[in-house]
Amino acid sequence: MCKTIHATDTQERSPEAKARGTPIALYIHIPFCETRCPYCDFNTYEGIEPLMPAYIDALVQEIRLWGSFLTQGQDTPLPQPISTVFFGGGTPSYLPPENIQRVLDAARAAFSLAPDAEVTLESNPGDVTTTRLEMWKAAGINRVSIGVQSLDDGLLQLLGRRHDSQAARQAYQNARHAGFDNLNLDLMYGLPGQSLAQWRSTLTDTLHLAPEHISMYCLTLEEGTPLDAWVRQGKVPEPDPDLAADMYLLAEDLAGGAGYEHYEISNWAMPGRACRHNLIYWRNQPYLGVGPGAHSYMGGYRFANLKSPRQYIQRVNQWADKGAMPLSLADLRDGGPLDTVDAIDAPTEMGETMIMGLRLGQGVSEAGFQERFGVGLRERYGPQIDELEQLGLLEWRQSWLRLTPRGRLLGNEVFQRFLV
Ligand code: SF4
Repeated sequence: MCKTIHATDTQERSPEAKARGTPIALYIHIPFCETRCPYCDFNTYEGIEPLMPAYIDALVQEIRLWGSFLTQGQDTPLPQPISTVFFGGGTPSYLPPENIQRVLDAARAAFSLAPDAEVTLESNPGDVTTTRLEMWKAAGINRVSIGVQSLDDGLLQLLGRRHDSQAARQAYQNARHAGFDNLNLDLMYGLPGQSLAQWRSTLTDTLHLAPEHISMYCLTLEEGTPLDAWVRQGKVPEPDPDLAADMYLLAEDLAGGAGYEHYEISNWAMPGRACRHNLIYWRNQPYLGVGPGAHSYMGGYRFANLKSPRQYIQRVNQWADKGAMPLSLADLRDGGPLDTVDAIDAPTEMGETMIMGLRLGQGVSEAGFQERFGVGLRERYGPQIDELEQLGLLEWRQSWLRLTPRGRLLGNEVFQRFLV
């Protein structure tokens, strides 16, 4: 349920006024997958490929719409600066590659894309071919994230992945040969029936490849997914959380030993290669999301687009046909592609800053918090911090508050203390 947005709210705290001049991140959602993996609950669909051309048209329209919206009211319109772009999904690599160029061209025309912007594209190994890599590179992609998930063929089959371990290695080599020097590999652990030895083998082989960045996610059984049903029906063994914790500790040990910095709960990077785009989320800084179901955070509001690709296309086209410039987020909700708009008050923003910032290895800065909110961390959260320190879940390192190694395993225990 959205809060009511009054005209005065949007005048005083409008995204265009608040974000002006501050570089933001741009997330571009691609809701297509060749087949759906049985564990996935993302906003993505198989079998809707005929929508692709209309979808790309709508995406380009939405980008133009935001480009104008974020400069309105300025005497000399200056385009909104963008520091990072992230094509996520779904499977962005599944799009015919010329579309990536078209969408990035639209973003360059609508916004001011920094010359050193980090521009990431998520991919599935089977799509990472020499031809596509060359086209992505020519379009401006400079970071490729490959959904490897495992280097064990049996587990890849269980996960319903379309690739085997050899295809994953080949994708990585193809990207290297094409000249990409900023690669991420996504891995999953805590899988049904996965042994510590299998995980060690995937980890060792991945570290041997030496990508700049590795994301390692513990499998979550999402309600309503086929994998969740198989586990409930006893067709697939239930994942063991204690074993998953051992896998996490092994990852910390082996990745740390190989020179990776554990800079976020689920992310490891070579020095200087942390994902700049995701850092913007974890630092609770502004970003714009385009495409169905994409979320944004700007000017004191969180807002999200309609999830259905068909409805999204329809509503973007309605706006384009009107030829009218939206004056507020409420306009974009009432007839535009937005579904929800929520005003974020200061206590909520503080809590979110804690929950996201504590995911980072360095934690939350006392000085940064004071500067942003005009109140100190101890002043605002004294009792919570004391209790969590006593439980051994939080610690101070100089003037940064961060999770302890035990706190990283029990993150949710910590985060709930900061919910308003
Ligand atoms: S490829 Fe990725 S986004 Fe698509 S269904 Fe599988 S896990 Fe989900």
